[in-house]
Formats: sequence, structure tokens, C-alpha cells
Amino acid sequence: MAKSRSLINGDNQLKLAMQRSGRLTDDSLNLLHQIGLSFESYGQRLFSRCRNFPLSILYSRDDDIPDYVGLGTVDLGIVGRNLIHEQGIDAIELEPLGFGYCTLVVAVLRDSGFQSPAELCSARIATSYPESARKYFASIGGRPDIITISGSVEVAPSLDIADAVVELTATGSSLLLNDLRSIHTILESEAVLVANKRSMDNPELRPNIDRLLLRIRAVQAAKRFKYVMMNAPESQLPVIRSIVPGLKAPTVVPLADEGWVAVHTAIEEDVFWEKIEQLRAAGAREILVSSLEKLML
Ligand code: ATP
Ligand code: ZN
Repeated sequence: MAKSRSLINGDNQLKLAMQRSGRLTDDSLNLLHQIGLSFESYGQRLFSRCRNFPLSILYSRDDDIPDYVGLGTVDLGIVGRNLIHEQGIDAIELEPLGFGYCTLVVAVLRDSGFQSPAELCSARIATSYPESARKYFASIGGRPDIITISGSVEVAPSLDIADAVVELTATGSSLLLNDLRSIHTILESEAVLVANKRSMDNPELRPNIDRLLLRIRAVQAAKRFKYVMMNAPESQLPVIRSIVPGLKAPTVVPLADEGWVAVHTAIEEDVFWEKIEQLRAAGAREILVSSLEKLML
């Protein structure tokens, strides 16, 4: 009796924090829905409880998430790696999530003479990421004057408030717009799933963290692959097999037409078109491609 009460009350109930409203919100919600979680996520909610998994979701500012995870206020967080790096918290990065890509760069005015960060070691640097900037310049023996600004960092050099910026960029368009050019990448970032260390060691929580992670990895893996079916002359099988070795080996089914087979396999997205061209050259025909929803490797 005591045990089932504790389950209802949530000794094994996980808490996950994600960004409430911003660049990571839609993709985070999509991921949680894709792994089959059912919860309300509309409007200005601060909190939802999943109906079909022992998980509660806390919607917060992204800047608060690293601390929540580090201190154990929540067990898990979805947040940009740049913020984990900035806040230097002690947490476990469980999985990169494939969205929220950006880089933290050192940028200077296009017409300035600066060519490398080493020339900025005692310059004025404007940034919203003071710790990341400080750590980076310390690593190359510099101690610049760090000016912390929370928004519109890119205008600082034009206003002669700073000689350079340390700023996040995804497409580079905002740098370009402000006449800035990047001279160094400090960090490559994307959204990551992070976990509190004690939660990972907690026997009540760990099995549910592992279940979530298995589902997330299945969705991630499915995005990396396409499922491909094709017809090919049986004599070409060795060549086709060398082009698409498949996850273990391709499935080969004989066709009613003598000397022809159907081949089923998975191809990684990155090399997809290259492989299709090679398959066609090897004699594959009627190539049918479909997306995968989940893939457990
Ligand atoms: P909040 O209100 O939650 O504090 P915010 O304005 O600080 O939001 P966003 O601008 O929504 O944060 O960015 C959230 C995260 O998105 C960043 O920490 C970073 O990981 C990622 N990101 C991706 N591309 C960019 C970009 N071009 N500029 C800034 N962040 C980006
Ligand atoms: Zn923020």
C-alpha cells in the first residue's frame, strides 16, 4: 500500500524544465510529443503533468534551467549547451537534441584591423556571456575588459562601447547586419538534454530517465535514416550490398520476375543522394523512400 501511494505521489515522478517561450520552445515541445508524451502545453502554463508517463514539465526562462538542473530542483532540462557552459554547472549531458544550433563567436567590426583573438587580450569585449568570454580569453592568456550587456550586444562596437563582441550566432545574419565579422568560434552549441547527477544515481528515478532516453534516441535515430526499397537484378546484389550495407544487412526478397530481387535497407540522411546515385548506377530501379518514425538501434 505504502509503495503504490509513493508511486502515485511521485517518488519516481521526474521533473523536466524546458524554455517557456523562445527559440527552443517549439522544438522541445515537438520532441516531447514525438516520444509519445501526452500533456497540455498551451498558453501561459508554468507546469504540466504528463498523463501517460511519470513526468512533470516545468516551463521557465532558459537562463534558470542550468541552475534548476544543477541544484536538483528538476531532474532533467532541455537547454542550449551555451548556457551550461556559461553557468559552469555540474550536470550530465545525456543527449544532443539536434535543434537550437548556434555558435558562440568572437566578432569584430568588418573594417577593424583585428585578425585573431590574441590581439584582443586587453581590449574591451561586450557580451551576454561574460563567463564564457572570460574563460576563453584566460585560456589564451588574455584578461580583456568584459562588458556585460543583456541585449543588442552587436551594436556595441559601432557605438565604440567595445572593440569586439562575444555573441551567439546561428546564420551570421545579425553579425552581418551590424558590420561584424567572426574571427574565432569559442563553442558549437545545440539544445541538449541534461540531468542532475543525484537523480541519475537515484534508483527510483533512474529507470524512468533511461526509458525517456531510449525514446528520445529512437526519435533521433529515425531522423538520421531513410527507409529505402528498390528492385535490382540479382547479379548486382554484391555491388548493391557494398553501397548500402544496411543496419545489419539489407533484407533481400526474390521477385516473381526471374533474376530480380527487392532490397530493403536504411540509408543515413547525410549521404542519402550520393547513395541513391550509386544505387541507380548499379542497376537499382523503382527506388521507394520513406521516413522512419522511430528506430531502436
Ligand atoms: P528567455 O526568455 O527564456 O530567457 P532568451 O531570449 O534568453 O529567452 P532565446 O533567444 O530564445 O533566449 O534563445 C534560447 C537559446 O536558443 C539560446 O540559449 C541558444 O542556445 C539558442 N539559439 C539558437 N540560435 C540562436 C541565436 N541566433 N541567437 C541566440 N540564441 C540562439
Ligand atoms: Zn534567456
